[in-house]
Amino acid sequence: MNVFIMTDIEGIPGITSIDDIQRGTESYDNACCMLEKTLNWVIDTCVENGAENIYYLDGHGGGGNIKEENINPRAVKVNIEEWAKLLQEGKIDCHLEVGSHARAGTLGGFLDHTFNSKVIFEYMLNGKPCSELSFTAALCGCFDVPCVLCVGDKAACRQAKAYIPAIRTAAVKQGTERNRCQDLPNAEQIVKEATADALKDYRNIPPYKLSLPITVQQTTYRTDMTDRIYAALLEKGQTVERVDARTLRKTVTEVTNYFDLRFWA
Ligand SMILES: [Zn+2]
Repeated sequence: MNVFIMTDIEGIPGITSIDDIQRGTESYDNACCMLEKTLNWVIDTCVENGAENIYYLDGHGGGGNIKEENINPRAVKVNIEEWAKLLQEGKIDCHLEVGSHARAGTLGGFLDHTFNSKVIFEYMLNGKPCSELSFTAALCGCFDVPCVLCVGDKAACRQAKAYIPAIRTAAVKQGTERNRCQDLPNAEQIVKEATADALKDYRNIPPYKLSLPITVQQTTYRTDMTDRIYAALLEKGQTVERVDARTLRKTVTEVTNYFDLRFWA
């Protein structure tokens, strides 16, 4: 069994305020320690449950949150291109999401957002609003890899279940307002139990598959944000339709990597 772990920081236990993830602060350093600790809980459980190869990606804000030397050496850190290669070569059996948050516009979701929190109002795949988790699950689904675990706040876990009913979840905290949350007790135990459960049953958790071609649609908060992205994509020679002032759309017939499903300028 080969396992891939995608990490984010917002859904990690012990991170309870937006201030905790401002880079360059002491709180942020503590948040990174909590991220590393939680990732190690998951990796240790993967090892205990017979995982052969374990890979992880430092996904929050383009990376730089996790120090490799603090992570169980049984797991290998990869970048986004290496991840795509592993998917293409069929080297991943199941995908885990650690540190998840709910999609932009979720009441009760701690730090709810979808990709860039300052820019993206809504992101849709095949006409359905997606979260970062459902986006990644859909990408994995293109390679028949199931997304089997969500570690995050209660709203993120509830939402993950709405996309993938069989997914296992570990709710480690609960949002009290958008920028604050409260930790729930026994995070370590909850995370380890859900991870073990997900791995034992991964063959029975179906991949989250969208039908091809996939329509990808992105709405920003403001027109000038879409102006800028649209111009950059056209300059790159990409075929993108401007649906309205704030919305771009494209149709994808074949998915080979993460960027195929993004508007990456
Ligand atoms: Zn993040």
